[in-house]
Amino acid sequence: MSLRFRVLGSGSDGNATLVEGGGARVLVDAGLGPRQLAERLAEAGVDPASLDAVFLSHEHGDHARGAAAFSARWGVPLAGTPGTFQAAGLARAKLPAFEPIAAGETRTVGRLAVRALGVPHDAAQPLAFVLAAGESSFGHATDLGHLNRGLVEALRGCDALLVESNYDPAMLRDGPYPWSLKERILGPLGHLSNGDVARLLERGLGGACRLVVLAHLSKKNNHPELALQAAEESLARGGRRGVRVALAAACGTGWIAVRASGTVVGRREGQLRLF
Ligand SMILES: [Zn+2]
Ligand SMILES: [Zn+2]
Repeated sequence: MSLRFRVLGSGSDGNATLVEGGGARVLVDAGLGPRQLAERLAEAGVDPASLDAVFLSHEHGDHARGAAAFSARWGVPLAGTPGTFQAAGLARAKLPAFEPIAAGETRTVGRLAVRALGVPHDAAQPLAFVLAAGESSFGHATDLGHLNRGLVEALRGCDALLVESNYDPAMLRDGPYPWSLKERILGPLGHLSNGDVARLLERGLGGACRLVVLAHLSKKNNHPELALQAAEESLARGGRRGVRVALAAACGTGWIAVRASGTVVGRREGQLRLF
């Protein structure tokens, strides 16, 4: 059973990722306007009405901006936490359906399993997701202030990972943002830095992972080359030269296939103390 994904938008201008597998098609987030989202789907050769669901990570505009209008226009159900539903104002929207999902739960769409993971971020009830079809699984985690042990454990079995690499600390410190915003981004409920991701890749990456996509890069507080360099160096230090690293541009990526590595993630490895 094949699994593939395609980033349709990444970063503060809007996030959305199309995932296809197990006879289902879903979006993770709909942070682009509904027209732009439909255009990016058309570029991917996908009819918006053919989507089975949109899973929302949280209510921030760059993730949920287009969700209500897109859902209503194309008849695609939304899924997310009750906190996201409230905070995004979805109670006022005319939705075809809203499926509540809590951290730790799994929803099955066709034969695509979507597992919700709680993440530390300054939103009502934010989530990351692991999407699995057959033997292949894909972890999708953006907008989180730090990586706790539970999250690292949950992402450990993934064959491919999309993770935010939001900022370079020196660029953020010296950059144009007001201090209050800098503190928010740097804080435990803000965003992951290039160094946070490097630490994950060096010490917390599961043996199954063959591909890492760096996403949600800040335009003002990061350079793609810095993010890429930090990730590649950390993989080299961790002896993981077989892991490919790619960057998600603001306008997205092409289709990316997720292949099951066949690596069994052992219980002992999963319990290594990392953080
Ligand atoms: Zn965001
Ligand atoms: Zn956010």
